[in-house]
Amino acid sequence: MARVFNFNAGPAALPLAALERAQKELLDLGGTGMSVMEHSHRGKAYEAVHNEAISLTRELLAVPENYDILLLQGGASQQFAVIPMNLLPQGKSADYILTGSWSQKAYKEAKTIGTARVAGTTEKDKKFARIPKQSELELDANAAYAHITSNNTIFGSQWHEFPNVGSVPLVADMSSDIMWRPIDVSKFGLIYAGAQKNLGPSGVVLVIVRKDLVAAGRQDIPVIFQYRTHSENNSLYNTPPTFGVYVLRNVLDEFKKLGGLAAVEKINREKAKLLYDAIDERSDVFSAPVERESRSTMNVVWTVKTPELEAEFISEVQKKGMVGLKGHRSVGGLRASIYNAVPVEAVKALADAVRGFKK
Ligand code: PMP
Repeated sequence: MARVFNFNAGPAALPLAALERAQKELLDLGGTGMSVMEHSHRGKAYEAVHNEAISLTRELLAVPENYDILLLQGGASQQFAVIPMNLLPQGKSADYILTGSWSQKAYKEAKTIGTARVAGTTEKDKKFARIPKQSELELDANAAYAHITSNNTIFGSQWHEFPNVGSVPLVADMSSDIMWRPIDVSKFGLIYAGAQKNLGPSGVVLVIVRKDLVAAGRQDIPVIFQYRTHSENNSLYNTPPTFGVYVLRNVLDEFKKLGGLAAVEKINREKAKLLYDAIDERSDVFSAPVERESRSTMNVVWTVKTPELEAEFISEVQKKGMVGLKGHRSVGGLRASIYNAVPVEAVKALADAVRGFKK
């Protein structure tokens, strides 16, 4: 069996060792005679997996003790609604910085719950091809929170330096770049990420939230949507997505074995450089629309001179075992998602194909 070079945007490539471990343990988890999927979520075997997933998250991201780590369901899209439901009381307003389609969706959902305003956008100027500068932001010092999307999966831009929002809690959708490098969690009020890019399979959402925000959260919303419910029950209020949490645990364990997120970052930077350098070198055929300082290390977006050449390029790399390179249906062009689990070898093969195209 041959594994392809997988550049899918999400669900995306997973570390081979994490999958092999799942394969090995599929019928018998640690000598219990059954798979993790067949265990009670209240039993010792699953509980150990669950708690390890949480403690590995705390360790890898150095999450301070005054933050809860929650493993939830419903995707990042559900968090678009759950965040304002919890954190946006009547009489307050939330700031949204718009840098692409996902932040627009988050903003739209917040407006169905309460008052939200745009504190910055790069839509008109350059069609989201850059991250706004601090000086361009119009922040509300009394906002309930300020929301950003740390990496824009579709447009291929990324916040390399997070905005300064003063004492307002910073909320970040890190779905497509969580754990790509170490970060200072204490700068954030809440971080959330769907697992299916950097962390595991779809069906699990990681939420890291400051305990005082959980405690102050609204109580006039359904119990199942209150962060306090999941915080008080160690994310075991109802049945968690047990297999998803199990695979996430395997993935995080691989990051730890690599040497933690500093080691992960080094590899990610190397991969991004390899590919952007190749695209820049071949400016006769290819071009990367995102401004250099805003380029994403996770989703490399670029265009080809003509639709014919684009089709030819895609068919050529497909023959070399590379898949998932078509840009998002809303923007077209090409996109290589080079998340944590995509090996350097895959990116080298793609960079070589870019360099050698039509030469
Ligand atoms: N935010 C970002 C940055 C994303 O890339 C995505 C999915 N591609 C989402 C949110 C939505 O995630 P989900 O499909 O898990 O709701």
